[in-house]
Amino acid sequence: MHITVIGAGPTGLYTAIALARRGREVTVVDRDPGPNGDGSWNRRGVMQFHHPHGFRQQVGEALLAEMPEVWDDLITAGAQPTTLPDQPERVVGLRCRRLIFERVLRSAAEAQPGVTLRTGHVEDVCYERGRTVGVRVDGHQVDADLVIDASGRAGQSTRTFRGPAEGGDCGIAYVSRQYQLLPGAQNGPMNAPIGMVTIYPGYQAIVFIHDNRTFSTLIARASTDRQMAGLRFQEVFEAASRAIPSLAAWTEPDRSRPISPVLPGGRLHNTYQAQLDDTGQVALNGLMFVGDAVCTTNPSVGRGVATSLMQAQRLVRLLDDHRRDFTSCSLEFEHWCAENIKPWFSDHVYWDAELIRRWSGHDVDVTRPLPSDLIMAATMVDPEMLKVVGPYMAMLALPASLAAVEPRAREIYASGWRPPVPEGPTRDELAELVAAVVSPHSG
Ligand SMILES: Cc1cc2nc3c(=O)[nH]c(=O)nc-3n(C[C@H](O)[C@H](O)[C@H](O)COP(=O)(O)OP(=O)(O)OC[C@H]3O[C@@H](n4cnc5c(N)ncnc54)[C@H](O)[C@@H]3O)c2cc1C
Repeated sequence: MHITVIGAGPTGLYTAIALARRGREVTVVDRDPGPNGDGSWNRRGVMQFHHPHGFRQQVGEALLAEMPEVWDDLITAGAQPTTLPDQPERVVGLRCRRLIFERVLRSAAEAQPGVTLRTGHVEDVCYERGRTVGVRVDGHQVDADLVIDASGRAGQSTRTFRGPAEGGDCGIAYVSRQYQLLPGAQNGPMNAPIGMVTIYPGYQAIVFIHDNRTFSTLIARASTDRQMAGLRFQEVFEAASRAIPSLAAWTEPDRSRPISPVLPGGRLHNTYQAQLDDTGQVALNGLMFVGDAVCTTNPSVGRGVATSLMQAQRLVRLLDDHRRDFTSCSLEFEHWCAENIKPWFSDHVYWDAELIRRWSGHDVDVTRPLPSDLIMAATMVDPEMLKVVGPYMAMLALPASLAAVEPRAREIYASGWRPPVPEGPTRDELAELVAAVVSPHSG
């Protein structure tokens, strides 16, 4: 059986390697030719490539289950397993730039017998009598019995074979920058496995620790907050970084130096798109969708690669079970995604809408179910809730599990408690600083 995978991102590469290890012949087609000889990689069309990524426990588990040497290669390349302060033996993620992650995974795919990487643009899926027979790449047909679309959130070539995506823009915008610690310098302050997370009414500031003494800082704001859009200018980002204590501590010139320009983020989405067409049927026998092509979530808590590789792992196993019965495989995969992936999308849709509402000046609404971020914050008052909230935070329990503690959290907010505001500029003070630094340039 010959399989073509559209897209050589994390999902496409992982899927291809795992299938080839089961004896399948797999061609992965991507318009991106791969890294340059010196290891640099522009990765046009994947705007998040140089933005910070935190890799969750599920990513490590997926690698260890199907291709354990890739995990070892990542560690050799400088990635650091993330552990909890009180459980240093328990790995809960991986600190690594996306560049390193993808370079290592791509090398494994290149070395994998049964996988062929091909550079080209997939224009269309070819089919006969309702069954996939290949893809058209730059005007030429590449034959395949099965086509797996791992073309990410922006993939277009198979769009007509599915019903519309649910969701859309999540209402949050990002600006980030990469740094490297100077020789001898230690990490700055940390309050989370990924690094340092500070949440203000109106914006968030996050430090992500990566491989090889590199890290990224990130400022997230409401995308409608036009006054903060100037953060994409280097002088403004630097001034904001000096003003926000958690970022200032990491980026002070004695500790680190920038190694990238300031990177503005494109639009961030919460979307879910099923395998099925708008009549609820599998449109094409032998065409399946996986990874961001199925679900994207606001990256602020880094669930994208986890949900993508969880899907890829499941799809590969279902293909073992269903063999050439692709329609029943698609249906079972859809059912699994609806139960195990879609809840993370729905969780973010509600969380983000409520966050934007609060960022625009509204108080917590205790007359409605609380979003997950507020339930998590309430564990500061009642740490007993962590028994339920902890597994959700680690994505080991679905968002519905929070229902068990939501009434307790609501009681806490109804009593008047609100999450403490960290030291640093308010949203209005930060917006003033942005305006002050931007205006000399605009004149
Ligand atoms: C700003 C931002 C920050 C993020 N941070 C995190 C994080 O911290 N942690 C985390 O887990 N996730 C994060 N994510 C999500 C994560 O980046 C995605 O989940 C991940 O990229 C999904 O991988 P993928 O392989 O499915 O898709 P992609 O990485 O988008 O790869 C798709 C590939 O398909 C190729 N392609 C598309 N169309 C065609 C075509 N027609 N022909 C040929 N090739 C094609 C593209 O070139 C690309 O290589 C973030 C996302 C964003 C936007």
